[in-house]
Amino acid sequence: MNTIADLRSDTVTRPTAAMRAAMMAAPLGDDVFGDDPSVVALQDKLATMLGFEAALFVTSGTQSNLCAILSHCQRGDEYIVGQFAHCYRWEGGGAAVFGSVQPQPLTHQADGTLSLADIAAAIKPDDAHFARTRLLALENTLGGKLIPYDYLVQATELAKAHGLQTHLDGARLFNAATVQATLTGGTVQAEARRIAQSFDSVSVCFSKGLGAPVGSVLCGSRDLIARAHRVRKMAGGGMRQAGILAAAASYALDHHVARLADDHALAKRLAEGLGDIAELVVEPPHSNIVFVDLTETVRPRAEELIAFLKSRQILITGLYRLRFVTHLDVNADDIDRTIAAVHDFFGG
Ligand SMILES: *Cc1c(COP(=O)(O)O)cnc(C)c1O
Repeated sequence: MNTIADLRSDTVTRPTAAMRAAMMAAPLGDDVFGDDPSVVALQDKLATMLGFEAALFVTSGTQSNLCAILSHCQRGDEYIVGQFAHCYRWEGGGAAVFGSVQPQPLTHQADGTLSLADIAAAIKPDDAHFARTRLLALENTLGGKLIPYDYLVQATELAKAHGLQTHLDGARLFNAATVQATLTGGTVQAEARRIAQSFDSVSVCFSKGLGAPVGSVLCGSRDLIARAHRVRKMAGGGMRQAGILAAAASYALDHHVARLADDHALAKRLAEGLGDIAELVVEPPHSNIVFVDLTETVRPRAEELIAFLKSRQILITGLYRLRFVTHLDVNADDIDRTIAAVHDFFGG
């Protein structure tokens, strides 16, 4: 048994036995020829579920966002995006490097949204001085936060009123839909579709909380996906018998969406368990990510705490803030052990 509680990311999951069986059983073909039935089935399944004409299986969330941005934009265009959005901050500047597409980053509000006034002010007039503002790219969940549905509608309507395209980095769309379903009483699938339908394109990761080893899917119109298909090829993402991976994603869609609520419950349990430690400021989690800040006096001890937890077989990250992520391979014992270890570190 795996005795390590790996809370660094929901990407660390390993395929379950049942997922591996589905992968082994998948019918395969050469997807560059469009011949892989398992890839086609996954693309059709997600496009139908989210209400799009077409979809494209890609190697990663980063490649998916790159395909989307380079399909919506031309050289010299720009996309409006949050400072902390993955497709601005965490993707090596790919849209600028490969597409000559300039980001226009905006500061987030406390709830993770970009203010409508800031978006409106960032849309450039048609003038030779400016890059052409072409796209608004949002993310949901963002750092584990659910972005309010009403806001998504307002922001995308504002963008459309100015002739902009809209893209959602929904790497964790099903986490967002899971939280939203608890607010509306709808099904997770219906909420995922409702969120997605505000956008011209949506990217979903299968290698995060959904527990597949590899892969993301980009959804959009038939024309957009045809352009994205070309970008994917240029980016070296044309895969051959990729159905062995697509089958894992299909399995995840069928079997691992409903259980995301368990991850969210464990994240809450962790946040509550750490909540009484005076040295910590714990942000109440919406979904499966718990951010924790050390108070001023103990802030220099962040590395020490991470090392201490590691000595207890508990892994977390602390790039900006301490981050604990729950997923398929984390159980209640892991969480209780983590709570106890952090208490031990602070001597209580
Ligand atoms: C992880 C992540 C990605 C990128 O996924 P990779 O598969 O690691 O390239 C994109 N967007 C968001 C919001 C993510 O969390």
